[in-house]
Amino acid sequence: MAQPSTTALPVQLQSLSKFYGAVHAVEDVSFDIKAGEFLTLLGPSGSGKTTLLMMIAGFNRPTKGSIRIGGQEIVHLPPHKRNIGMVFQNYALFPHMSVGENIAYPLRLRKIGRAEVEDRVRKALDLVQLGGYADRRTSELSGGQRQRVALARAIIFEPRILLMDEPLSALDKQLRETMQIEIRKLHDRLGMTTISVTHDQREALTMSDRIAVFSKGRLAQVATPTCLYDQPQSQFIAEFIGESSFLPLRKASGGLAYGGQVIQFAETSPDTFDKPMLMLRPERLHLCALEEANKGADGNIFDGQVQTVVFQGDSLLYEVVLSEGHRVVVRVPNRSDDLRRMPQAGNRVALRLDRADTRIVRAEG
Ligand code: ADP
Ligand code: MG
Repeated sequence: MAQPSTTALPVQLQSLSKFYGAVHAVEDVSFDIKAGEFLTLLGPSGSGKTTLLMMIAGFNRPTKGSIRIGGQEIVHLPPHKRNIGMVFQNYALFPHMSVGENIAYPLRLRKIGRAEVEDRVRKALDLVQLGGYADRRTSELSGGQRQRVALARAIIFEPRILLMDEPLSALDKQLRETMQIEIRKLHDRLGMTTISVTHDQREALTMSDRIAVFSKGRLAQVATPTCLYDQPQSQFIAEFIGESSFLPLRKASGGLAYGGQVIQFAETSPDTFDKPMLMLRPERLHLCALEEANKGADGNIFDGQVQTVVFQGDSLLYEVVLSEGHRVVVRVPNRSDDLRRMPQAGNRVALRLDRADTRIVRAEG
């Protein structure tokens, strides 16, 4: 995490709910966002991300619960008294104003003098790499430039908190990836507490100190990107963040078993759930010819047959059907020396999973 600025404030959500009749848009959400943290709300469409963000911004009143900024309860405060900067998905720029006038707007609302406004607009434009654009019309700008203007307008009054709702979803992939890094750098320079919404797991992994994953209005898990990826608490998280195949395990006398074998873990017996699933990340599996598989190796070995091989440039994607019938996806990096020796569709193969990479998650449903 970047060094928080001295004015950065924590945000605390406690038992927060929003109901629309029978629709529980947000249900009983509690967690803290640290001062200066970049936190992303991640979840599928309809999981309650925008509703939660709008409650923090003050445009949407909670049915229940508390929101504190810097320890102060703000649920009863109108949006303009919360001192929060906001960036929307569709930019929401004023079309009849120039770039400079758009950015100056929050300062004019606050009755700040002309000279200071001009100075701060110039600095804000430099910060988002639009120096010299003050007099342009917003209609003359590209999507990426418009989003930079929206960002400059959101931060120019030095809000205590910055909120962004799907800020990059209108941009094409390449620009989106550039802007992810740019926004993260800007956050690191300003150090303000930032809460961003996305449904794009890669964007969340790229930008965030921590990610709060939502499912059907509820908080499923909040953790750092590495922790969410390597130690997801449920099959939902494992499927939503990264790719994964799953094998159902059963309880056996020696531990948890798949087919005829007891699964080996790095640590002593892991927590068990009602329906434990073995999580297999495609890049953590080692693919080898059946005769090369060392059955005495330290780890878990599964037999199967290659169904398809797809060349994806940087890697090869294998679909393997195990002897027990489950499908497993394996990603093999494209290293030129390996390619010719790689198994083909129809070949019998073995998959090895090191103990250190052996994880179970709770099955859905
Ligand atoms: P997300 O931003 O994750 O896509 P939303 O917060 O927009 O999700 O919506 C969460 C749920 O609340 C959805 O089922 C949505 O249909 C419902 N919802 C959102 N706003 C309203 C509203 N004003 N009236 C009724 N239902 C709403
Ligand atoms: Mg939304």
